[in-house]
Amino acid sequence: MGKTILVLGAGTGGIITAKELSKQVGSTAKIILIEKEEKNIFAPSLLWLMVGKRKPNQIFRNSRKISGAGIEVVIGEIEKINPEQITVTVKGQEYKGDYMVISLGVEQVTEHNLNNYGYDFYTIDGATKFNEQLQNFKGGKIVVLVPSLPFKCPAAPYEAVMLIESIIRKKGLNNKTEISLYSPEPGPMGVAGKELSGAVRQMVEMKGIKYYPEHQTTSVTDKLLTFSNEKTVEYNLLAYTPKHQCPSVIKETALFSKSGWIEVNRNTLETKFSNVYAIGDITSIPLEMGRPLPKAGVFAHYQAKTVAHNIAQKVSGMIPDKTFNGEGQCFLELGDGKAGYAGGNFYGSPLPIVKMKKPGYLWHWSKVWFEKYWFFKYF
Ligand SMILES: Cc1cc2nc3c(=O)[nH]c(=O)nc-3n(C[C@H](O)[C@H](O)[C@H](O)COP(=O)(O)OP(=O)(O)OC[C@H]3O[C@@H](n4cnc5c(N)ncnc54)[C@H](O)[C@@H]3O)c2cc1C
Repeated sequence: MGKTILVLGAGTGGIITAKELSKQVGSTAKIILIEKEEKNIFAPSLLWLMVGKRKPNQIFRNSRKISGAGIEVVIGEIEKINPEQITVTVKGQEYKGDYMVISLGVEQVTEHNLNNYGYDFYTIDGATKFNEQLQNFKGGKIVVLVPSLPFKCPAAPYEAVMLIESIIRKKGLNNKTEISLYSPEPGPMGVAGKELSGAVRQMVEMKGIKYYPEHQTTSVTDKLLTFSNEKTVEYNLLAYTPKHQCPSVIKETALFSKSGWIEVNRNTLETKFSNVYAIGDITSIPLEMGRPLPKAGVFAHYQAKTVAHNIAQKVSGMIPDKTFNGEGQCFLELGDGKAGYAGGNFYGSPLPIVKMKKPGYLWHWSKVWFEKYWFFKYF
């Protein structure tokens, strides 16, 4: 009898896992891809949406379009996961697998009632509404706030302020506008090393953006932010990142670890349950430097390829022989049609080895190309 592979979540990791498996196992296995949202968003484009460079309907496709070639897409919320039995329950129906890949990402929640005062640019709705306010902005104080760690895409808030600055300057409002970024982090993209972190900070500050690291939000009211150092800050327009937590459906299982996420073998992504894998943002992978691997699509992408290959090997009776080695790259939007590009090995010992290429138009267009490629290849 053919094997069944359950893939939980059709985000970056889940889509690539399902598509790679479909290429590699052919008709010898059935792939069931379970996703709760019909709207399948390409998250990097939210940054363009928040500054009016995209319309909402340009940055998502329907999750059902991922189906085909041995992939059955089930739309519905996973209510229960049993890693011992490799079963999941969706809308009361149980699905049983021989293998399971968990790629459910993070649960995004609002803290400090921020939704009453600002815009969550990690959602289509928040990014769209922020842009409406930005287009009508006449000058004042714009704040991008990171209220808590961790957050996915370590570059995103830095890209957001630089894209906003570019729009404000083009509108001729730079003399009437102050743009600031507050974050609890000691510096931008710290896991990538001091040199890269310093370079990103310099890029941000050279644009006249005020950067305030090590600022932990304690409360938010209409027009006023308060931090743990008792500093208070006024604002006129606020964009923020949501609090990220492990999806509740995992918290009820033995997969939930003391890190607050799922622990995996860092090379195979297998959990403590045999044939149950977890990839992407839902995992916590400690690095030698003492901090976890950042949450980013590029890691979910490479981890998905590793896991899909190894499951395909197992399905055909061969030995799994691929490992995820901590490689990752990312684009960094700078505004004015330019971007930077950083990449390297995050499993580097004793520290990750990550370098940045000279920023320019090429990297911005490479990011645009990747967006088009993503929709063309997977939907
Ligand atoms: C503004 C922004 C910009 C970004 N830019 C970049 C970038 O340039 N480069 C980069 O590498 N990364 C970027 N990222 C991060 C990247 O999007 C994530 O790291 C990546 O999507 C993680 O993949 P994943 O498969 O782990 O989770 P996700 O892609 O989040 O997928 C999880 C899926 O599981 C589904 N799900 C969750 N719970 C359930 C349930 N109970 N039942 C059914 N389905 C469920 C969700 O609906 C979702 O579709 C960005 C993120 C944001 C917000």
